[in-house]
Amino acid sequence: MMVEAGYETIGREVIKCTRCPLHKSAIRRVIGKGSCSPKVFFIGEAPGKSENETGIPFYGRAGKELDKMVEYMELSEEDWMVTNTVKCHPPENRRPKVNEIECCKPFLLAQIILLNPKIIILLGNTAEKSFCPERKLEWGAPVEHEGRTILKLYHPAALIYTRSKVETQHAFIDKNRHLWS
Ligand code: URA
Repeated sequence: MMVEAGYETIGREVIKCTRCPLHKSAIRRVIGKGSCSPKVFFIGEAPGKSENETGIPFYGRAGKELDKMVEYMELSEEDWMVTNTVKCHPPENRRPKVNEIECCKPFLLAQIILLNPKIIILLGNTAEKSFCPERKLEWGAPVEHEGRTILKLYHPAALIYTRSKVETQHAFIDKNRHLWS
């Protein structure tokens, strides 16, 4: 139904959503940021504290790291969009629970159908658990999934905590550049 009604409707439905308990503590709903016709669609984990305050995904420290990653990928502004597995900030910055991810999944799927990206980049294990729970993907190894290419890369926060992962992430990106170039 959301898909038929269009992208704006997704935002309106997210703002009204009370499907899981996360809405009770959320200040802002965090829907997405970026191009409306992206080649690459990034899926992160969940809005953090600064995202909850601004309503903008990847606004804080992890966002600066994502910007560096996007720059390394040589993507332009029109090329990409980012969202999360859940649109509300989990209290105490905890990981979203399985039922919260499931409640929010129709919004994520509607975004994908409407924006129709060729490539979906799963930023870390939570994104993988949400988007394709039935598969275990290898880091940096693309797979075809329902007509799109799916690639699992390190979450930007993991790159902040383990700097040695940056080099490996760059190698994953270099190996897969042909997918979006
Ligand atoms: N900010 C987000 O919007 N998502 C994350 O996964 C981490 C930080």
